[in-house]
Amino acid sequence: MNQSTASIPPAPQTVRFVLARTQHPGNIGAAARAIRTMGFWRLTLVAPHHYPDLQVNAMAAGADDVLANLVVADNVPAAVADCTRVYGLSARRRGVSLPELDPRAAMAEIAPLLRQGAEVALLFGNERSGLDNDELSVCHAMVRIPSAEDFSSLNLAQAVQVMAWELRMATLGKLPEAPPDHDAPPASADEMERFFEHLFATLHAIDFHKGRSAQTIELRLRRLFHRALPDARELRILHGVLADAERMARLAKDHPPAAARRPPSSGRG
Ligand code: SAH
Repeated sequence: MNQSTASIPPAPQTVRFVLARTQHPGNIGAAARAIRTMGFWRLTLVAPHHYPDLQVNAMAAGADDVLANLVVADNVPAAVADCTRVYGLSARRRGVSLPELDPRAAMAEIAPLLRQGAEVALLFGNERSGLDNDELSVCHAMVRIPSAEDFSSLNLAQAVQVMAWELRMATLGKLPEAPPDHDAPPASADEMERFFEHLFATLHAIDFHKGRSAQTIELRLRRLFHRALPDARELRILHGVLADAERMARLAKDHPPAAARRPPSSGRG
């Protein structure tokens, strides 16, 4: 080993590259090679169209350790359940109004998180359609590689390569970093999902939507709470607030106020 390679620290391994619904098995192999060349190992496939497949091995070109450790999940929430941050890669600007970062700005956040031992996912979409709305809903932020406006979509494995390269540069200390803004690690994706379920159920219980569609408001609330990066203790407080709101809603239903109990005919007057 020569001197320059001897001084390279090992790459952090709490980062995973997640490929959603990959169509071409060659891209899975090429992605394995891309992350392995940058010192990373963890690749998760979500419902791949063709896997296992000989083209995976052919394009991996010897990145067998990545393939041997590869995880296959049924859906994106399961693939990232224990992650404290999920970054969604998209070639297009999406209507979800999540914070949008370029790869370098994303790595300035990710490198310090990895140093704290946090689990972080980089989530890549299907070759034809990108990430769907359900997949986007678990993301804390979007990352867009600032490609040409009129030809913005990179090949999937090449997008993986760009991110792995930037992560390598960031973890080698070659790029400036954002300081960590939290004393406790943020809640995991799974804990956030349980909180959202509770929040949305409570909004129904207090009849917040009044017949209107819940979809837009739910997306905005997701964005708000993802931006806040609550930790597990803060989520417990919020669960407590919601539980009390639910209790009050039940009480109000069981004991409506006197005016509401009066039959309409006797209410005149
Ligand atoms: N037609 C799809 C492109 C899919 S390319 C779309 O418009 O979204 C497959 C995946 O590669 C994307 O889902 C994304 O995760 C990644 N990718 C490709 N080009 C990218 C870019 N410029 N910035 C960020 N991610 C990109």
